[in-house]
Amino acid sequence: MNDKATTFQEIKDIVLKFRDDRDWKQFHDIKNLAEAISIEAGELQELFLWKDKDELMRKLSEDSNFKEKVGEELADVLLYCFNFANSADIDISQVMANKIKSNDEKYPVEKSKSSAAKYTEL
Ligand SMILES: [Mg+2]
Repeated sequence: MNDKATTFQEIKDIVLKFRDDRDWKQFHDIKNLAEAISIEAGELQELFLWKDKDELMRKLSEDSNFKEKVGEELADVLLYCFNFANSADIDISQVMANKIKSNDEKYPVEKSKSSAAKYTEL
């Protein structure tokens, strides 16, 4: 599998099979899955805690073990996101397209280019 050859639906089907093979549907309610996304995001953040951002970028490119750990935590976050989308019956592509359109309207290039200001402050 790789990003160019894999669809969101294929990943949704894989995580659904993984869940159902283990009879875990009973645990995969949207509350638990939202919490799991947050917990795994915390584990991803923990890898970066108290470290300098420039040093982290160097480590990410030079330390394959570190990059593997980062990838594993990112995968944990994303897999729970796909499980959440399955349990909540959400079409990931559709909601992302809607959100990108909304963000495009909130952050027009002419007002937001090179600015980190929130849309309410543009
Ligand atoms: Mg994890």
